[in-house]
Amino acid sequence: MKDFYNNLFIKNIISLLDKRDRIFFICLLALSVVISMIEFVGISAIIPFISIITDNSIVINNRYLHYFYDFFNFQSIPDFIIIFGLLLVAYFFFRGFFNLFYYHMIARFSYGRYNKLSNKLFRQLLYSPYKKFQHLDSSSIYRSILNETINTSQLLVSLLNILSESMIVILLYFLLLYVNLKATLIITIFFLILIITVFIIITKKMERVSIERSNSLKTAYEILANFFYNFKFIKLISSENYLLKNFNTNINTITKAYTKSYTISNLPRMFLETIGFSVIIIFFLYVLFYNKTSLSYAITFISIYVLALYRMLPSFNRILSNYNNILFNYKSIEIIANELMSTIEIGGNKPVSLNNYIRTENLTFYYKENSYILKNVNIEIRKSAKIGIIGKSGSGKSTFLDLLMAFLKPVKGKILIDNLELNNDIIKSWRNHIGYIPQNIFLFNGTIEENILFGRELDKNLLLKAVKQSHIEHLIEKNAKSNSKIGEGGLLLSGGERQRIAIARALYGNPDILIMDEATNSLDIEVENEIMNDIFRECADKTIIIVSHRLNTVERCDKVFTLINGDLVQKL
Ligand code: ADP
Ligand code: MG
Repeated sequence: MKDFYNNLFIKNIISLLDKRDRIFFICLLALSVVISMIEFVGISAIIPFISIITDNSIVINNRYLHYFYDFFNFQSIPDFIIIFGLLLVAYFFFRGFFNLFYYHMIARFSYGRYNKLSNKLFRQLLYSPYKKFQHLDSSSIYRSILNETINTSQLLVSLLNILSESMIVILLYFLLLYVNLKATLIITIFFLILIITVFIIITKKMERVSIERSNSLKTAYEILANFFYNFKFIKLISSENYLLKNFNTNINTITKAYTKSYTISNLPRMFLETIGFSVIIIFFLYVLFYNKTSLSYAITFISIYVLALYRMLPSFNRILSNYNNILFNYKSIEIIANELMSTIEIGGNKPVSLNNYIRTENLTFYYKENSYILKNVNIEIRKSAKIGIIGKSGSGKSTFLDLLMAFLKPVKGKILIDNLELNNDIIKSWRNHIGYIPQNIFLFNGTIEENILFGRELDKNLLLKAVKQSHIEHLIEKNAKSNSKIGEGGLLLSGGERQRIAIARALYGNPDILIMDEATNSLDIEVENEIMNDIFRECADKTIIIVSHRLNTVERCDKVFTLINGDLVQKL
């Protein structure tokens, strides 16, 4: 909670709002000043109305009322009272509509920020460097993008509510001070002590609840993800009950957190209302029996207090419950602000093309200091060459490909495309030349065509060619009839079929350079041969880099390297 009170909290909020948001926020604040004025005028106008009803002569005796009476040429006091009453009714209708408009604007602000923040967050993720991506976990991402953003937007609303309600309280407070300084000050001290006590108790409780909620939500997402990826395994070791129990525990914590926060947020209201109304009644009795002034004055005087307190109490409640809401959600704003501050990588688009060779110069890489994956690798890959890379599993083949595609940066040395160093300036255009078939393919739950296109525009000829080269015509035919989806991760297909769709996906972009990372290891040798023959025949002018642990996959290649002890050694 420390950071809640220091300016980190404020800094985080400010960092989440761009210039337009801030202007919107300030406009809403201005609007809330208007709202509090309207509330204030409404309540102030009731007071003379009550005075007139209790003592009709005030219309004549009071300077201002008399002026109005004459100005509009009223014939009788009852006429005046009726018109006054009707005007008040009209005013409260206006107040209602204006408040509605205000709430509408608040909702627009809040959910608009939700919209913007989710998008911003997802954009941030999309542009995160590969190095960061490797350490992300999907559960906290889902939580951040979908839950924490909405909490943050609610927090902003709470902040606005607190500011506008405080304004109302302050205005009414000045009215009370004006009416009776001494009585008001006594009541103030009394209420201040109460409110501060309540604040302190609540802050502690809410902080705990907020952290519990946030953590349990993340774990619940993790359990769900686990279920998706390990269904068969869960069945085999019959761990349904274990998972269910785990899930239950977390949902229980979340439920308890929400229940607690709801109860706690209503606690101050009940507390204040009980005390508040008791004070009003006692005050009433006091004025009635000990006050020497006339009854009509006393009633007017009391009505002011009753009205003001009657309006102030809900304001206090709202301030308190919104304060609770902030406490309950302040963790969200921290999570989001941190996420948005993380580095992003927007690759440069400086044109690059492969005309002669890709060359590595003393290319060196490790994940952990001194446990080298690659050490001083110097190789040359000529344009249109067909290169095979073999090596034991874990020797660093995929890592080498990641370096070639600039997902990882060399620790030392460099990669040259012709004479251009592969760095951030050319990342984007360089990647546009590459078709990549990864070791782990993840297909989404759409049709086969959708999976091949992957959001790119449909070009029938290209699609047909890619489908043919990856030998999936029959698969498409089979699925086209039923227009069926292939399941999450391509669950409804075999491993080999998934690989062939991934190959089609890479070929569809008609890349100059094709990188295949164990892309055919789920295919039987016969199908692999057919596909590789096709690719080699059709792609004579393309540069192809094939990684495999099977020697026969790379036997067609012009050059074969073995990755061993951090070096790429050419096989003769
Ligand atoms: P290959 O593709 O040849 O099977 P990889 O390039 O995937 O091997 O991995 C090479 C080594 O680097 C492995 O020992 C692996 O455990 C390690 N490794 C891979 N990715 C990371 C990472 N992000 N952080 C730390 N070590 C990693
Ligand atoms: Mg690998």
